[in-house]
Amino acid sequence: MAILVVVDGMGDRPVASLGGETPLEAANTPHLDGLADGGATGLVDVVRPGVPPGSDTAHLALLGYDPYCDYTGRGGFEALGAGLTVEEGDVAFRGNFATVEDGVVVDRRAGRDVEEGDELASLLDGVSPDGFPGVEARVRHTTQHRCAVVLRGTGLSRAVGDADPHVEGTEVPVVEPLDGSEEARRTAEVLNALGEKFHEILEGSEINERRSTEGKPPVNRLLIRGAGVVPDLEGFYERFGVRGSFVAPVALYRGVCLSAGLKPVGLDESVVSMGDVEQVEAEAEEAAGAANSDFLFVHVKGTDNASHDGRCGDKVDVIEAVDAMVGELRAAHGGHVAVTADHSTPCSIGRHSGDPVPILVHGPEVRPDDSESFGEGSCGGGNLHRLRGRDVIYELMNLEGRVGLHGE
Ligand SMILES: [Zn+2]
Repeated sequence: MAILVVVDGMGDRPVASLGGETPLEAANTPHLDGLADGGATGLVDVVRPGVPPGSDTAHLALLGYDPYCDYTGRGGFEALGAGLTVEEGDVAFRGNFATVEDGVVVDRRAGRDVEEGDELASLLDGVSPDGFPGVEARVRHTTQHRCAVVLRGTGLSRAVGDADPHVEGTEVPVVEPLDGSEEARRTAEVLNALGEKFHEILEGSEINERRSTEGKPPVNRLLIRGAGVVPDLEGFYERFGVRGSFVAPVALYRGVCLSAGLKPVGLDESVVSMGDVEQVEAEAEEAAGAANSDFLFVHVKGTDNASHDGRCGDKVDVIEAVDAMVGELRAAHGGHVAVTADHSTPCSIGRHSGDPVPILVHGPEVRPDDSESFGEGSCGGGNLHRLRGRDVIYELMNLEGRVGLHGE
């Protein structure tokens, strides 16, 4: 079985409090170091050198697709990953339950932990905006304050702006069309009407009365953003003749994997409420037990969470949990393994950067290089040199004998 482990936001820069090492270099990672020592290493420009990748485009690239041509917006992946059906002609979005006062967003996350998320989403699911009886919204709660939304109807377009101001203290914006098409104009109107309809339903719900007695802020708006459709991708089986599966609890990554034709193994978003390290341990158990696949994709989120919050020490802990997981995977499955990241998220800046990410590839007949450990610095001298993100899967599939001849 070939395995690709993507450690979200693992790449970093030297950190003074870690003695000038990156979190990956500072972490105690005997398994990863052993694989780097006996395997090949390099650096990956996941989207393009110097361009900070989004997690969506980065994962498309790492699964072998073109992050510029094949990307059709984030919403389609979110909805698919949340378990909603997305049909041709549908436009999908991410949504946040939020608290609004007099049209001004006072909390984009309505207190963040919206326990009543499932109930609230069911109030909005199936609603048609006033004036657009042929358009229906499907709404699914995912985690905390997050939702996925699918708009179904004729004449819709993903060329629309967000109904989310992205900052608090400002008004909910009017959705604007992003091109001159009739479809974009109509979709913007649909979204504006839908936002008002959702607001009306949420304001009148007894769930908010209950929340107010519990001292929680009201959930009275769904802020919608990230319009997208599910891209029409050549599936993994068609491309490589392999049966692929994935362990990825978070909706976005599930959606990218599903759109590539990979099958889910265990674990849904409920594990997202676990601690970052515990989540890796749960994933390790699922991934070690995965069978009936030729390819397994494993996604780890905790490193990125820690990086965005500037928690370097926690990032080191998650990387050490990944190390243990990779050890378990090697004990459970033969074949080739690649370990890399979807982008760097340096703790010092708390956001994605365009710095290349380290990669190791290990398994039968891999040409070893001089690197003795897994880190940003040591991988820079490896014999994989600098790869594009979209080439990673080809490197791995080539070692498994799964890439067809180009030419004759
Ligand atoms: Zn990411």
